[in-house]
Amino acid sequence: MADVIRLMSDALANQIAAGEVIQRPASVVKELVENSVDAGSTEITVNIKDAGRTLVQVIDNGCGMSVSDARMSFERHATSKIYSSDDLFCICTKGFRGEALASIAAVAEVELKTRREEDSIGTQVIINGSQFMGQNPVSTPVGTNFSVKNLFFNVPARRKFLKSNSTELQHIVAEFQRIVLTHPAIAFSLYHNGNLIYNLPESTLKQRIVNVFGKGLNQELVPVDIDTSIVRITGFTGKPAASKKRSDKEFFFVNNRFMKSQYFHKAVALAYENLVRPDCIPPYFLYFEVDPHSIDVNVHPTKTEINFENASDIFRLLQAGIRETLSKCDVAPAIDFDSESDDIDVPYFSKDDPMPPMPEVSYNPFYNPFDAEQKSSRQSYQQVQMPVRDKNNLENWERLYSGGTDMDSMENMNESGLHDPSAFAAKVENRLVQIKNKYIVTPSKSGIMIIDQRRAHKRVLYQKYIEKVDANADAVQTLLYPITLNLDVQSFAMAYDIRDELQVVGFDMEFNEDNSLTIKGIPPFLSQNSATEVVNDIIDSYKEGHGNVSTSIKDILAIAAANRETIPYGKQLSPDEMRQLIDSLFATNAPNYSPEGEQIIVIVGLDEIEKRFANS
Ligand code: ADP
Ligand code: MG
Repeated sequence: MADVIRLMSDALANQIAAGEVIQRPASVVKELVENSVDAGSTEITVNIKDAGRTLVQVIDNGCGMSVSDARMSFERHATSKIYSSDDLFCICTKGFRGEALASIAAVAEVELKTRREEDSIGTQVIINGSQFMGQNPVSTPVGTNFSVKNLFFNVPARRKFLKSNSTELQHIVAEFQRIVLTHPAIAFSLYHNGNLIYNLPESTLKQRIVNVFGKGLNQELVPVDIDTSIVRITGFTGKPAASKKRSDKEFFFVNNRFMKSQYFHKAVALAYENLVRPDCIPPYFLYFEVDPHSIDVNVHPTKTEINFENASDIFRLLQAGIRETLSKCDVAPAIDFDSESDDIDVPYFSKDDPMPPMPEVSYNPFYNPFDAEQKSSRQSYQQVQMPVRDKNNLENWERLYSGGTDMDSMENMNESGLHDPSAFAAKVENRLVQIKNKYIVTPSKSGIMIIDQRRAHKRVLYQKYIEKVDANADAVQTLLYPITLNLDVQSFAMAYDIRDELQVVGFDMEFNEDNSLTIKGIPPFLSQNSATEVVNDIIDSYKEGHGNVSTSIKDILAIAAANRETIPYGKQLSPDEMRQLIDSLFATNAPNYSPEGEQIIVIVGLDEIEKRFANS
């Protein structure tokens, strides 16, 4: 029998390796941009077409390659970055396996143009599916220009496996973000189908974060510097008020390389415990510096999961360090971390809460979303049907509304139960006070409860709208006069990306060539007047999250619709109105937080009050 073992062809070996390294267009972006970073570039431009299916082009102004290096760079295990196995442990550059270019060239049509400063003319190499097509002199600026076309053209199974353009683009944006957040001194730009998505000049780290994620973050970040013998952790973490359910701004880097870590995420989450809603977390951008010998970056081919020798020590240092950072920065002045109290745990109050202007608005601010029959916001309390509450809310409500501090009254309250709202009405009569037309204050079991009226109302309206969005799925209110909305290129690209989701919630829109939208239909519960603002809000939220896949358009729509109607600060409320607002608030699923994660209720504890008097 003839021998059966043969050496695989290089092309086949490369294709197999590519399966590991190049999973989707975003992998190509990552590998090429990292190479450009390693080449000492100060400016890197990324051009994407059709979410990278048609083209991924990366242009840099780095060191460039010689004629023979340009050809060599596509060979497997060709790398200028590792000379010995010792280097494997002290990796400072991004790439180190020397197989990225070989893998990319195995599954795409690649054109490389490159020139070094000392060369008067550059060189062009063309390789299609591992097949060398030719190399020629070419006139090209100093630096390197890679064009990767028709990815997976020769691997149909892979090509089919790719997700929708918007998903693939989100992966690209995610990879891009991870790199730009580690190199603020390099200028980056990213284009998709000719539209500029990011333009990031050279800047400080904080400025880079803000440029990537929006100006809104500027006031919300607290600098972190935890310096210990086993790890130094620097970067920024968000104030508790900046916490969000959407988790698209959580970044760990180790030795300036992105890493995923559910484990360390947990440490950060623990540091924020009691400061934010359990399912929310503020953004964080944390950079670990450790001895390269104490980590193993080779556990995963795409190298985002990293093993730490001192993982559990770092966990504790991180958790304690973030807590301390928050307390030092006075963003959490009144927190008693060890509180055993089962009262609503919300003694956080942000000094930075902006005081928005006070527009005059006229509408019924006290619509009770749970009572469709309700005719007038001024109905007497007894006539208003009690909203349905789940057990937890019921308990909160009882606790908060027990009024006095003695247990007797608490028990009486429980006995009279919530089935008799008038009993509560009598108890809380005259106990609600409005201050500065902004807060509602009332005694609570454990001190004084302060409710932010605007946020409370937002929560109530959000609940109403999220239910409407669900109930009306697919229904459209056709506009008699379509509305035209002019957008900048980025917003237009984003809106286009989410067109399917917008349609599902009831928007009927046309996308025009001049970057405008024609809105022909809107969700049935939206008013025509608010349609454009709500669409803008949705695009903005989506942009802010950079199209995080987990972002629910329904959620954004409900928040946007609620924002449009929320009573402004400065609105005077009658005792009845206050009571109704609070009542509706405690009927919602999450009375402690606005849909955007802002604190609604603050309790100033008796302890705190007593301490104040003791010091005087
Ligand atoms: P690695 O990055 O792991 O070394 P790659 O396959 O990504 O392997 O790249 C192979 C080699 O090609 C690099 O080591 C480098 O010498 C060269 N190279 C790749 N991209 C560039 C670039 N943009 N500028 C200069 N040299 C590059
Ligand atoms: Mg590389």
